[in-house]
Amino acid sequence: MPTIYLGLGTNIGNKKENLTRAIEALSLALGNYTALSTFVETEPWGFDSDNTFLNCVVAFGTTISPTELLDTTEEIERRLGRTTKSTGRMYHDRIIDIDILLYGNDTIETPRLTIPHPLMHRRDFVLKPLAEIAPHAIHPTTGKSIEELVAGL
Ligand code: ADP
Ligand code: MG
Repeated sequence: MPTIYLGLGTNIGNKKENLTRAIEALSLALGNYTALSTFVETEPWGFDSDNTFLNCVVAFGTTISPTELLDTTEEIERRLGRTTKSTGRMYHDRIIDIDILLYGNDTIETPRLTIPHPLMHRRDFVLKPLAEIAPHAIHPTTGKSIEELVAGL
């Protein structure tokens, strides 16, 4: 069963509660998580906002396909109250963002889905919590471990 890693972020409302509710909803859909990082406070990345982020990374073992996984995460984002999606790397404040970081060792490139997540290896708010729970996981497109990617930030 492949291990999937999801990156969660929120910068409006009760952020701790937003992450907790998303993790609960994901666990109902995917089964119990196998690992969960701490919640880390980070600065907005790629856009200006006064609202800092709370981020975490959570791992599941699952047989659900990548496309079904994206359907599931997007449905949970909507259920938790997210109304806008980002287009053309224009980012907004968000109640919850759930990104698929890694899906086992797979690389996927479709119009809806790029795995590994295209910017994850450059983002400290993804790599640092991911390194807490999976320092030795290999990022399949760079061939580097998560701990190596963190060292190169
Ligand atoms: P961002 O996370 O960059 O703020 P969104 O959450 O609004 O942006 O997602 C924008 C689009 O990214 C989605 O419509 C989705 O189809 C696409 N996408 C591509 N690869 C992934 C991935 N690995 N995980 C989540 N979304 C992805
Ligand atoms: Mg997203």
